[in-house]
Amino acid sequence: MLAPLSVPAAEHLTPHDLVTYFRCPHEMELGRALHALRNTGTLGPVRTPLDVVPLRQSPLFSPPLGKLTVNEGRLDLFDDDRLVYEDPGEDDLPMLFPSERVQIDPKFTNSHSTLVDAAWGFAGRPDFVIRQADGEFYPVEYKETHLFGGYHEAHVRLFDTIQAVAECRLVEVTFGRRPAFGVVLYGDEAGGGLHEGWVRVPYEEAEAHWLEYALRQVREDRVRAPVPAERNCVSCAPNAEGYCRFAAARPPDGRDPTSHHGPSGFRP
Ligand code: SF4
Repeated sequence: MLAPLSVPAAEHLTPHDLVTYFRCPHEMELGRALHALRNTGTLGPVRTPLDVVPLRQSPLFSPPLGKLTVNEGRLDLFDDDRLVYEDPGEDDLPMLFPSERVQIDPKFTNSHSTLVDAAWGFAGRPDFVIRQADGEFYPVEYKETHLFGGYHEAHVRLFDTIQAVAECRLVEVTFGRRPAFGVVLYGDEAGGGLHEGWVRVPYEEAEAHWLEYALRQVREDRVRAPVPAERNCVSCAPNAEGYCRFAAARPPDGRDPTSHHGPSGFRP
């Protein structure tokens, strides 16, 4: 009798993985390898071949941006809105609602704090989920930065858009209703709230298809090539620790890359 075929589990991914992959697939690999190092004492495997040809731009095309709306000022919250989820792992989130309008969903009151999409092998934690009077939900991702500081440098804000789209999918799976949109809330902490604002990121068929495609692309990518570009590399955490051999630039206080010797033939 033939043994049943076993289907390998899909690679687990998070919204953060997608954002990192979009910036530089090799950064995603190094970030995971270093995560393993912190948890187990051993640097995790890095699939990027030593003779890889670096890319000039991200291999992932950007999500649809045509219907995205940018708003200055405070996020529109209504009297009947309720906070049904808040990431317990974040200590510095603003208080959006008074306590009487906080109704954390029972799914998250017994130490579960991650939204899991088992079908797509995807999980993550938005900063907030809000339920509106009509029973619809939407995620909010909070950023401490000024809304318009470089807003039109799509490079930076695209990452926030990707996160919002990914979180919409997690909310859809968790609460059983597809959000019409996700919000990125810019708190402008450094500016004392002077330039607060928020971006409404639609979540329609086009965005959902983009997300499904993006997850498949990441999983099928056996190379995880570097995308060396100064704007990426100076803020790349593995680079700051001296783990990237392809960096276009290094942070001024970055670690000497020749000081490491990784496993599996991988050397930074
Ligand atoms: S330093 Fe640059 S090329 Fe290297 S992993 Fe980071 S972003 Fe990619």
